[in-house]
Amino acid sequence: MVVGARIATKEKLPNYIGGEWHTESVDSYLPVYNPALDEVIAEVPLSSKAEVDRAVQVAKKAYATWSNTPAVDRVQYLFKLKQLLEDHKEEIARILTQEHGKTLEEARGEMRRTIENVEVATGIPSLMQGRLLQDVSRGIDQEEIRQPMGVFAMLAPFNFPAMVPWWFAPHALATGNTYIIKPSEQTPCSQQAIFELIEKAGFPKGVINLVHGARETAEALIEHPDIEGISFVGSTPVARAIYKKAAEYGKRVQAQGGAKNFLVVMPDASMKFTVDSIVSSAYGCAGQRCLAGSAVLSIGEKHRALTDQLIDATSRLKVGYGLSEGVDMGPVISRKQQARVLDYIQIGSDEGAKPILDGRAKKVKEYKGYFVHPTIFDEVEPEMRIAREEIFGPVLSVTHARDLEEALAIVEKNPYGNAISLYTQSGKWAREFKLRVRCGNVGINVGVAAAMAFFPFAGMKDSFFGDLHGQGMDAIRFFTDAKVVISRWV
Ligand code: NAD
Repeated sequence: MVVGARIATKEKLPNYIGGEWHTESVDSYLPVYNPALDEVIAEVPLSSKAEVDRAVQVAKKAYATWSNTPAVDRVQYLFKLKQLLEDHKEEIARILTQEHGKTLEEARGEMRRTIENVEVATGIPSLMQGRLLQDVSRGIDQEEIRQPMGVFAMLAPFNFPAMVPWWFAPHALATGNTYIIKPSEQTPCSQQAIFELIEKAGFPKGVINLVHGARETAEALIEHPDIEGISFVGSTPVARAIYKKAAEYGKRVQAQGGAKNFLVVMPDASMKFTVDSIVSSAYGCAGQRCLAGSAVLSIGEKHRALTDQLIDATSRLKVGYGLSEGVDMGPVISRKQQARVLDYIQIGSDEGAKPILDGRAKKVKEYKGYFVHPTIFDEVEPEMRIAREEIFGPVLSVTHARDLEEALAIVEKNPYGNAISLYTQSGKWAREFKLRVRCGNVGINVGVAAAMAFFPFAGMKDSFFGDLHGQGMDAIRFFTDAKVVISRWV
């Protein structure tokens, strides 16, 4: 694939190992689809244990030199990469739309966030500084220094295929580690394009590597004795399994999982603003964001007005191919996921929730892809499956809660803790909410509570397994070991 071109049909994607493109040791491939067109756009290799070992060995070799390269010199490669990403962001955004289905505007937003993480990591020479206490005892100084550890690997989900690996990679590299990225087998193309830029940036051979594959490749990385740590982002069952496996193999691990994010609407919320924000949160990226609001808790007498306006605003969303003008929402990722979302709509109806907007009633005629139109359920009881489980599609449930106390109790019972938003004009309610709610990313009149790269991405409960999160100072700690040196000169 050449950055700038349309994705070549059925191109076999190579791995990037030790500064070279490799295909020779791979004999098994999976098709990659454009989900709007239902067409194969590439083939992704299912890399073997031997291929993983080859990547780890070159990364290990590169570590010896890279970890001894001053941080100020290491980040020069990130400055080059940042500029290349700026120069090519539009082309990569177009690839993103073709492999994932999100609209071009959404893909552009993803590229912005990808670049932002690279920018933040260029500041690591300041962020990585240790600390010193002179004279902890007479003539004795004590210092803490942070050092890189070795080879780290990242296992990515399908939904932000360009950005998510770069929540971690820039910090790992800038702190002096070497790195391996395994993209999702469903959306490997944008990362492929980013690695073409990595090649141009001239990183020393083996410092950063790309190994494609699915579950077996991921497991080979976790089990490899020369991998120091794993960053994982994906669904909760897999995050939990990876956390356990990584611990079994003695690895440092951070595993971000799935979500069910509530949008709590207080009686004093500004109605039009709130409706627009909910619609954008619930249906952006066709509901396939780990920060997507998927369950409204509406408090007070304005419930009917809220649902009427939600139906009105949601019905106006144009569903189609993300590269076409005026499209607001693309397809879901696969035929399988389309069937799963449609199943959930049936489950909601069977459970007795009221479908006030049924996505099954409309079809996209121009394209053969995996479209589901926006759906809204009202009169959803908190214990229903559609209110508790992650659907990861354009389905919104609305529950009427008596007051903030009842809303907080519903949220507390939900197993996830990724993101939550409150809509209100009251500082008192907002303060009480932000302090009491057990959830990692909290939005106050913000529908998608996405932490910028200099703050940690803070999931809780079943949305995160580990101690140190991605991004921010947590990332520095995750990718370094602390050493304490106590010295006396006599
Ligand atoms: P997934 O769990 O199916 O796959 C994620 C990655 O794990 C892929 O690279 C896949 O190849 C690999 N994998 C799958 N099964 C595995 C196994 N048993 N052992 C080892 N590796 C395995 O997730 P997905 O469907 O690609 O992504 C969607 C999910 O990711 C949603 O649940 C979403 O909420 C979540 N997500 C969470 C965040 C967050 O920050 N918390 C961000 C984005 C997406």
